Amino acid sequence: MEAKKDFEGRTAVVTGGGTGLGKAVAAQLCARGASVVIASRSKEHLEQACSEIAGLGGKIIGIPCDVRQPEQVESMVGGAVERYGRIDILVNNAAGNFLVPAASLTPNGWKAVIDIVLNGTWYCSSFAGRQMIEQGGGCILNIIATYAWTGAPGVVHSASAKGGVLAMTRTLAAEWGRHGVRVNALAPGVMVTEGAAKNLMFESLEVQERLVEHIPLRRLATTEEIARLAAFLCSDDAAYITGDVMTADGGRWLDEGFLALYARQTQTRV
Ligand code: NAP
Repeated sequence: MEAKKDFEGRTAVVTGGGTGLGKAVAAQLCARGASVVIASRSKEHLEQACSEIAGLGGKIIGIPCDVRQPEQVESMVGGAVERYGRIDILVNNAAGNFLVPAASLTPNGWKAVIDIVLNGTWYCSSFAGRQMIEQGGGCILNIIATYAWTGAPGVVHSASAKGGVLAMTRTLAAEWGRHGVRVNALAPGVMVTEGAAKNLMFESLEVQERLVEHIPLRRLATTEEIARLAAFLCSDDAAYITGDVMTADGGRWLDEGFLALYARQTQTRV
């Protein structure tokens, strides 16, 4: 069955759209008729993704942009509007991360992650949001992680940044709803993408198998299934959803805390 073309006539900007989840989201939106702009630092990532996705039949271009640099973000947003006339959807997906004990994290390491995830999300939301307000509406989707609200050892920089993005999501939803701009967040579970697997050290199958034992649905997520949820949140089917966070982690974050640990240690079947 051919995919429905419910994004026809709409323009979407996906940051970090050249790899991993961002590429899957760009492909999903493009296949459903959107004109897509992918934006990230590496021209190689962008060109490779554009050639793969354009083969699916949609319109897609790459605009090199470092989301840490507000002037680059402004020019990327301007380039998207110049090319397609408007921005209906912004997916703030770009991120950087690495595992580090909080006591060993340097000021530069902290700044690197906060700059991409928290500041980058704000710069993109701010410039694209103004465009959406001017044109009478739009939709912003922020990709976060469940540790935005649980916290997690080893990622104090990323957890703090994603927590900030969650607060930003709700704040902008409250401020911009009257302009027809919806703002939501999506917290995926573990996906084996090249960047995440390497930076968070779950490249090996053995580590992945151990991770899966702590996921109630007993498997990792695929980028394609998360991309479909991203598309749902950006679609008219979600027209009355704003300021919300959708979690798609196979129940992972519920399998934490004292009782889960106790059940495992005592091998209690629950
Ligand atoms: P990924 O493949 O490493 O994607 C990260 C993307 O961000 C890359 O395309 C990278 O492209 C881009 N990027 C990094 N720094 C940038 C900058 N300064 N300016 C512009 N773009 C930049 O990782 P992923 O796993 O797909 O992650 C996608 C999203 O899902 C992230 O928000 C991540 O936090 C979230 N997430 C992932 C997992 C997981 O298990 N994978 C779980 C929960 C949440 P360039 O190198 O070309 O700049």
